[in-house]
Amino acid sequence: MPLLENEKDDKNRAEWLKLKDEIVHCQKCSLHQSRTYPVIGEGSHQAKVMFVGEAPGFNEDQTGHPFCGAAGQVLNDLLEKINLLRTEVYICNVLKCRPPQNRDPQKEEIEACSPYLDRQISLIQPKIICPLGNYSSAYILEKYGLKSVVQGISKIHGQVFEVKTLFSTLKIIPLYHPAVATYNPKTKTILENDFKVLQKTLG
Ligand code: URA
Repeated sequence: MPLLENEKDDKNRAEWLKLKDEIVHCQKCSLHQSRTYPVIGEGSHQAKVMFVGEAPGFNEDQTGHPFCGAAGQVLNDLLEKINLLRTEVYICNVLKCRPPQNRDPQKEEIEACSPYLDRQISLIQPKIICPLGNYSSAYILEKYGLKSVVQGISKIHGQVFEVKTLFSTLKIIPLYHPAVATYNPKTKTILENDFKVLQKTLG
């Protein structure tokens, strides 16, 4: 497997390579049978901000890169507006393999795949996690003991939830999934405002 640029002088390089290898060979759920490439994640291993989508779509499955289709273009625009580069954040998904016909992730698939996301979060130790959409927000908020605040994304988007972790404080900012903005222009404006919240929170 070729090394990515940011893997070269990575203190956790061995763990990242092991994780990558496990995902490539994963057969913990049936999605590996229909996928083309798993989509592991991309960006800086030292990122302060992590974006967590739901699952790869058609373009991501074909290329192995997260958010490289229409929703990815929306995400790129939003990042650009707050002067963040894709290379300085980390972008991944709850599920690493594409569900057929982009159907919603199933509970068993999330259970099987989320330990990979948990390991990515532990390795990166971001200051802020932005889950994108309902499934991802529910997973991240529940993971950090915030089950009581889980509601539809229309109710919780753009709010900053703080949790104390072992060594620091983590902020979670649930956001609308950028795919929604591809067919609903009002959501793009909401996302732009929520990205300003992210920019301010980043300081
Ligand atoms: N939607 C997602 O949730 N993730 C991707 O990588 C692409 C589209």
